[in-house]
Amino acid sequence: VVTIEGLVKSFDGRTVIDNVDLTVAPGRIVSVIGQSGGGKSTLLRCVNLLEKPDRGRIVIAGEEVFAGGRVVCDDLARLRQSVGMVFQRFHLFPHLTAVENVMVAQRKAAGVPEKQALETAVRLLKRVHLAHRGLAFPDQMSGGEQQRVAIARALALQPKVLLFDEPTSALDPESTREVLRVMRELADDGMTMVIVTHEVPFARRISDRVVFLDGGRIIEQGTPAEVLDHPTHARTREFLTSFD
Ligand code: ATP
Ligand code: MG
Repeated sequence: VVTIEGLVKSFDGRTVIDNVDLTVAPGRIVSVIGQSGGGKSTLLRCVNLLEKPDRGRIVIAGEEVFAGGRVVCDDLARLRQSVGMVFQRFHLFPHLTAVENVMVAQRKAAGVPEKQALETAVRLLKRVHLAHRGLAFPDQMSGGEQQRVAIARALALQPKVLLFDEPTSALDPESTREVLRVMRELADDGMTMVIVTHEVPFARRISDRVVFLDGGRIIEQGTPAEVLDHPTHARTREFLTSFD
């Protein structure tokens, strides 16, 4: 679903993504781990072209969207529909209810008629176990509930891949469990996902592949057992022991 080749991105002459190659096959879960500042968020933001890369090639669902130093996708709105994103901070509209938050992107980005958007919103809130919270406003919901609304909102655009940028790092343990459960269920349903997370035990359970990104480079990648249990690089070991 996602192919990244030779991706380079710098800010003010400082390289923060340094020749990254990454492929995410349909239905696969790739977790990206690494120290703060390693380039994890920038990598995700490049995938849906929220950041414009300097060099490299990005192919989403068979369609080349970036190549030869420029965006070749003629429809960024459609690209962002097929690449859903869930952020650490949920970015819900505070003046809209849960249902309305899930409806608004469908209406605006995809021009879905109101009745259909409502039906989809109700169905997806159920899927993230929030059927009873549809009329709540964000400030009436826990962090875990808000994040699950954000996941429902991303799902509403029927993405081909979902990118998660530390979706639980602003949450308490109970909320974290609720959100990880929903992500686990999405994985079981065959959703293709790239997950930036500090939840190492979760990454071990859910991932097909784990990527360790450090200083903008993929230092190590492989199965969870390879990368998390038998890391070969000192930097990976150092990172993992910081969780012990
Ligand atoms: P964290 O774990 O803290 O979220 P990260 O791995 O997501 O870190 P990035 O946010 O991708 O790291 O940042 C990588 C580097 O790029 C950092 O040094 C950061 O300061 C820099 N950077 C990110 N965005 C910008 C920007 N818009 N302008 C300038 N520098 C940036
Ligand atoms: Mg980040």
